[in-house]
Amino acid sequence: MLCEQCNSPMEPEEEREFGGRKLCEDCYIDALSPAKTCDPWATYTASRLDTQELNPAQEVILKLIAQQGHATLAELMKATGLDEAALMREIAALRHMELIRGAMMPGGGRAFKLFKDQG
Ligand SMILES: [Zn+2]
Repeated sequence: MLCEQCNSPMEPEEEREFGGRKLCEDCYIDALSPAKTCDPWATYTASRLDTQELNPAQEVILKLIAQQGHATLAELMKATGLDEAALMREIAALRHMELIRGAMMPGGGRAFKLFKDQG
């Protein structure tokens, strides 16, 4: 007989029932643990999150912006100890990850805000 999920042949004693379907043991285990799925979108999302691990400088940048609501380039250089070129690389990475965005300050001048902060 065949598993109704993956169509692989299975012995009658391997048969498991889940949601009214007859499944092989592998598919039954998969059905019981929906987090472990072969959904390409879930895999994509998970791998995308994996690549979003922040380095220490990026964490300092995010923390300062979260604390102050915004931060200028000068403030971020002071907080991270990076020079402008190195800092801009980290900022570019954070913007690419949609964690921060550039913003104009009411008094003029550029600053950075959290991406989700639309104020
Ligand atoms: Zn199966």
